[in-house]
Amino acid sequence: MAIIGPRLSKSTYLRGKQCHLHLWRYFHAPDLAAPADEAQQLVFDTGHEVGKLACRRYPGGHLISHDHEHQQEALEETRQVIDAGTAPALFEAAFEHEHVLVRADVLERLPDGGWRLVEVKSTTRLKDVLVLDVAVQLWVLRGAGLDVREAGVLTLNRGYVYDGVRLDVNALFKLHPVLDEATALLEGIGGEAQEMRATVAQSEAPIIAPGKQCTSPYVCPYYAHCTHGLARPEHGIGELWKLGKNSRSKLEEAGINEIKDIPESFPLSPLHQIVHTAVLQGRIQMHGNLTEALARIKPPVRHLDFETFAPAIPRFAGTRPHDSIPFLFSVHTEHDGQSPAHVDYLHEGEDDPRPMLAKRLLDALGEEGSICVYSPYERRMLRELAAAFPQWAKALSAIEARLFDLLPVVRNHCYHPDFRGSFSLKSVLPALAPGLGYDDLAIGDGRQAAALYQRALANDDLAERQQTFSALRAYCKQDSLATLEVRKALVALAGSAA
Ligand code: SF4
Repeated sequence: MAIIGPRLSKSTYLRGKQCHLHLWRYFHAPDLAAPADEAQQLVFDTGHEVGKLACRRYPGGHLISHDHEHQQEALEETRQVIDAGTAPALFEAAFEHEHVLVRADVLERLPDGGWRLVEVKSTTRLKDVLVLDVAVQLWVLRGAGLDVREAGVLTLNRGYVYDGVRLDVNALFKLHPVLDEATALLEGIGGEAQEMRATVAQSEAPIIAPGKQCTSPYVCPYYAHCTHGLARPEHGIGELWKLGKNSRSKLEEAGINEIKDIPESFPLSPLHQIVHTAVLQGRIQMHGNLTEALARIKPPVRHLDFETFAPAIPRFAGTRPHDSIPFLFSVHTEHDGQSPAHVDYLHEGEDDPRPMLAKRLLDALGEEGSICVYSPYERRMLRELAAAFPQWAKALSAIEARLFDLLPVVRNHCYHPDFRGSFSLKSVLPALAPGLGYDDLAIGDGRQAAALYQRALANDDLAERQQTFSALRAYCKQDSLATLEVRKALVALAGSAA
């Protein structure tokens, strides 16, 4: 068979599987890709760390010493180690078949002959894309003549609880056998790889319009480039919150992309009817009894926000992989006719933030009045803190009993066209309190905050570390201030509707 186009790797095959234009750009125009942000970089770094840890499950295993810049040498070294017949496992073993080259995370020699292929991931759940990942490797390994009899994905085990002393690498991981599922995918891989190479061999980019493939299974790094300058609907049907597949298909089949073009006769849910009216009239729509909903808020009124990080490999006693650990809180307290009082706590050490954070939180929240939040997340964090520290469980439960979530109040009582289909605080705040928002902050979202916090803890440059800590405090402060401003706006709306 004639081989057209460059050699593919597993990752380029997976790029091509998502979209041939993505694959073509990766080879011909990589500069157009958006750089990885802090949160994505943390995912890559964590993946490497987890991969190294997984190797400890296979004592005596051989790490192929040649890196990705030296693939021919890696292929040769792999062949030699396999032929020598002594290593019980290989890490980063290299194989090539029909111009597709893969490096296997772990290749384990089975006692009765043959090999087990293992793909290591830092997630805790098995996803379809991980099975495809294994299938590509299986196709190459078997094509290269290796007797692969088992295949699996090694994820972190969400059920594992760290004792705070020693990581048990056998209990920390969970092997998901996927041989049958991966084998079922083998048939199409050779033909697809050939088509992908042919695409890459072309000097012109394939013509592919942005669509569902751009965000699944991953957000494409060329998204901003592909969608730049495209005409967007002013209020597209994507702004209909949780629009069902059937309704979406019917609207798309009728050529309706804009909410304003949906005919009165089209069956919409009560909330979607409100969104429809808000867009047609270009102004906020009120519904339900907002005054009654707000009446449950008791003074003194406080506003609470947490920032958390979720280490893939547990660091603190009693925690599991990817447990959320609060490291920062911000509290604003309303005072009639005066500026709100603000207090926060950021844990600046590398030890467990939770004990000190819990103590400071109890001091900050007093014993009376409502504590406004904007999502069920703070409630979940309080419950987890109470479970982890029984000595404060009663006091934390008392705090939980005072929580008042403003999110369902907004969702059930008002809709502004500027929400653009989202009830998140970042969407709701500028619509209900014009002039306020997050644009001036160095940190844009919680994922970035978590990544920057972890990077700051590892940074020896104290000035840079303090700069990041200040940015984190400012971001969290804005969230608790935002709930305060949203409440004020809701009170005003309830007053004007009365
Ligand atoms: S943004 Fe979408 S269309 Fe553009 S390259 Fe990526 S997946 Fe393909």
